[in-house]
Amino acid sequence: MFARSAFRAAQPLRTCVRHYATESAPKSGSSMLLPVAGAAAVAGAGYYYFAGGEGAVAKGTQAAGAAVKPAFTGGDQGFVSLKLAEVETVNHNTKRFRFELPESDHVSGLHIASAILTKFKGPNDEKATLRPYTPISDEGQQGFLDLLVKKYPDGPMSTHLHNMVPGQRLDFKGPLPKYAWSENKHEHIGLIAGGTGITPMYQLLRTIFNNPKEKTKVTLVFGNVTEDDILLKKELAELENTYPQRFRAFYVLDKAPKGWTGNSGFITKDLLKTVLPESKNENIKLFVCGPPGLMKAISGNKVSPKDQGELSGALKDLGYSKEQVYKF
Ligand SMILES: Cc1cc2nc3c(=O)[nH]c(=O)nc-3n(C[C@H](O)[C@H](O)[C@H](O)COP(=O)(O)OP(=O)(O)OC[C@H]3O[C@@H](n4cnc5c(N)ncnc54)[C@H](O)[C@@H]3O)c2cc1C
Repeated sequence: MFARSAFRAAQPLRTCVRHYATESAPKSGSSMLLPVAGAAAVAGAGYYYFAGGEGAVAKGTQAAGAAVKPAFTGGDQGFVSLKLAEVETVNHNTKRFRFELPESDHVSGLHIASAILTKFKGPNDEKATLRPYTPISDEGQQGFLDLLVKKYPDGPMSTHLHNMVPGQRLDFKGPLPKYAWSENKHEHIGLIAGGTGITPMYQLLRTIFNNPKEKTKVTLVFGNVTEDDILLKKELAELENTYPQRFRAFYVLDKAPKGWTGNSGFITKDLLKTVLPESKNENIKLFVCGPPGLMKAISGNKVSPKDQGELSGALKDLGYSKEQVYKF
């Protein structure tokens, strides 16, 4: 059964979202699920197809069971130079970047959830800048990977990326494995994200909802400064409409506009208590990703990429154990 509160007591908090769990899930051939893929998706070639408005995803995804050629193999592979193919401006500080993999039938080789390391050294730089990013394209996507990157005014890598134009190249190395997801690994997961912390959560969401064998239920709590900062809003809304019995999202804005029907201020313990699966549920997992302030308040920061550190903050106060929480 889906957690107690996430789909009942939480309802008043969640007026900004259109559909509730009382509605039946759409049939698999719903027009929203198949905007372009049509018969191909039904036949199985669209196993990884996602209703995110990205028509290209359906065409180039790897059929289930087919042999894959990974672009990133880890070990001593070193850095691989990828050509920037497309750039899309998403909002006032965020762009989406599509990088071509070396071969058109390559997949990235990043298993969910994983990140990838970028490297850039400007002509006047003493040292190279290295920063990790989380591709938002599917694990089975052939030919390219997509990054969603927010620009920080004095941030060397995000500024470099935002200045790049199609045709230029960037060095990548990976994968950087994070939390290894497998089919139905957990009964119910809670995702608590701030800003670009949505990217690993989106990887999980796509993997779960692209797989017809998945039964995992997902609750997302997504905090942002303004409404314009909410990344992947359309994609998240489509998922909610398609899977109302298994996916719910709660949006929290620091600076809510007039008429905002979601939550405002910071992500509070009260909200988390109401919407997340209860700690006593056996097979749950909570994932947290966001700026240091959010991490500190919700779960405590990681000590290092390999050390999750102790659990503290709101999740500890709510009775969750360290084992029930993963900090990206
Ligand atoms: C595993 C992992 C995956 C990541 N995935 C993504 C992703 O998909 N998209 C994305 O945009 N970023 C992602 N990041 C953050 C990214 O690696 C860089 O830290 C970020 O782009 C800033 O790099 P920079 O060189 O431009 O600026 P930096 O010099 O690193 O930082 C510039 C300023 O911004 C602050 N800052 C940096 N990151 C954050 C943050 N997340 N929240 C608040 N303040 C911050 C710094 O404290 C500094 O003041 C990820 C980070 C990790 C660890």
